[in-house]
Amino acid sequence: MTIAICPGSFDPPTNGHLDIIGRASRIFGKVIVAVLENQRKTPLFSVNERVMMLKRLMTSYQNVEVDSFQGLLVDYARLKNATVLIKGLRGMGDFEYELQMALVNRKLAPQVETLFMITNNDYSYLSSSIVKEIAAYGGDISALVPAEIRDLVLQKIRANDEKQQF
Ligand code: ADP
Repeated sequence: MTIAICPGSFDPPTNGHLDIIGRASRIFGKVIVAVLENQRKTPLFSVNERVMMLKRLMTSYQNVEVDSFQGLLVDYARLKNATVLIKGLRGMGDFEYELQMALVNRKLAPQVETLFMITNNDYSYLSSSIVKEIAAYGGDISALVPAEIRDLVLQKIRANDEKQQF
């Protein structure tokens, strides 16, 4: 069975993420959605919150597991016996960054293959940061994030805005 990892920040998960994970789950025996614990970024949602949201979204996917990891992705892949890393590509910006990452990861772990999935047309503009930006200005995010977590995302962004006002 081929095990694939979909790594990312998922701060918060969006319909774009869900689309990539769903497509990967139809191709691979098992997919691990792995939330990166990045010490250098200050996320809006804690790692735990992101894992909980993703678990909620993945309940109907039999072969998808949600986890978090620290450190190098290739080390985590080895630990999980995963041989494929799935990355979504929205445009040239993603490509330039991801190409470098894929080449570095191949140097570090030649047995782990990076595969790119082209974004769904409907979500090519969609990122977690754009969701946060729109929500912070009171915009409608219902077409951007899954319905199951929309209120959670809105609450968190409002609470965060209030905190910043003081
Ligand atoms: P972002 O903050 O840019 O949304 P993440 O680190 O959470 O990024 O993304 C995790 C993975 O999901 C990355 O491989 C990223 O390219 C991919 N991804 C994110 N949004 C989309 C989208 N709308 N379409 C395709 N892939 C996406």
